[in-house]
Amino acid sequence: MEKNMPYKIYLSENEMPKEWYNVRADMKNKPAPLLNPATKKPVTFEDLRSVFCDEIARQELNDTDAFIPIPEEIRNFYKMYRPSPLIHAEFLEKELGTPAKIFYKFEGGNTSGSHKLNSAIAQAYYAKQQGLTGVVTETGAGQWGTALSMASAYFKLACHVYMVKVSYEQKPFRREVMRTYGANVTPSPSTLTEAGRKILEAFPGTSGSLGCAISEAVEEVMANPCNRYLPGSVLSHVLLHQSVIGLETKTALEKYGVKADIIIGCAGGGSNLGGLISPFVGEMLRGENQYRLIAVEPSSCPSLTRGKFAYDYCDTGKICPLQKMYTLGAEFIPSSSHAGGLRYHGMSGTLSQLYHDGYMEATSVTQTEVFEAAVRFARCEGTLPAPESSHAICVAIKEALRCKETGEAKNIVIGLTGTGYFDMFTYQKYNEGKMGDYIPSDEELQNSFARLPEID
Ligand SMILES: *Cc1c(COP(=O)(O)O)cnc(C)c1O
Repeated sequence: MEKNMPYKIYLSENEMPKEWYNVRADMKNKPAPLLNPATKKPVTFEDLRSVFCDEIARQELNDTDAFIPIPEEIRNFYKMYRPSPLIHAEFLEKELGTPAKIFYKFEGGNTSGSHKLNSAIAQAYYAKQQGLTGVVTETGAGQWGTALSMASAYFKLACHVYMVKVSYEQKPFRREVMRTYGANVTPSPSTLTEAGRKILEAFPGTSGSLGCAISEAVEEVMANPCNRYLPGSVLSHVLLHQSVIGLETKTALEKYGVKADIIIGCAGGGSNLGGLISPFVGEMLRGENQYRLIAVEPSSCPSLTRGKFAYDYCDTGKICPLQKMYTLGAEFIPSSSHAGGLRYHGMSGTLSQLYHDGYMEATSVTQTEVFEAAVRFARCEGTLPAPESSHAICVAIKEALRCKETGEAKNIVIGLTGTGYFDMFTYQKYNEGKMGDYIPSDEELQNSFARLPEID
């Protein structure tokens, strides 16, 4: 490694990837096919295209092409905020007194504040190409909705976002950013859809869930042939688009002669982590290299570490395709005391398969230790991290402190997915000592597993 490692490693514009990398092409055990919820048979292109844009449906089903060209218009948009920097966290290293080298790939530098824009702009582009007039989606913490409203504004598409009610109320500024970019935002559950009305009837006063908001968005799309549903995570084509994170990271590390030992990312639906590790796991799958890859999830929503690897519904209303994944059950809703994001009940099928086959590790952390790490990081490195990203920071700090004990100078790479500017409500809770930890009991999880669909 170079002696005088620069603090920020920026690539030039022409070092940005021109193709996405599709890790499924190199997987011997492919992710299991999505199933049509009505027939329980593998979905076809025809099944998918009523919900997704045609090109997105093709990408979702493509597990053979390793490289997929990034259209020039998408690369032009990427130029507005990419390449994102790979930062050598020398102040954090000093704070920890570790011999380890820590690097973080910072995806929070665009207005939407997270990596989600990488896929939003791609999906909006394909919707425009196809001559559609509008896109519909759900948003939980608000980052996906924000990213999609920016992308929709750029391509002049109408954008309707179902925002989980609790976050609609807690994050009014997120909502306002979306409206500023022209999106129409509805708190979910709403009375606009059958799925929303059903949930409201069964659970009056509910604060909503991602699974329910997805059902509402998909239901709206099914009723309007000029609209399509755009998902922000979990599905394979989203991981494909997010591979720009990993490809840039790999180029930057090579440029500076650093070989990563440990790569750590937070995992909600798996898109940032999948994108970050894709090129590295590709090397492992082809037998070229070895890395330790670690997925970090909240202990209040532990799909990889305590879930079942089974076919499950992706949404509460059971209208989306089923996916084989690590899941807590489609009806699992994390405790309302959980504030740090990453609340989805399942995990990307691609990441689930890689984890199942032993290419990746997973660990869970409590939200109080996550915020402790976030604050420590913010105070020495300056950047205020999103709570989601802080899950990865938390485990990176643990690994760096382990290196301090053993004297090993490992190279640790973190995916730092976003800024925490819109999460001050949650930081306030932590700062005032009002944040608790909730870990679901085995019994609670068993009850949820008992309702998993039976697929033979
Ligand atoms: C959405 C989001 C995540 C989690 O989603 P993944 O699909 O697992 O990447 C993590 N960090 C931030 C900042 C997010 O907005």
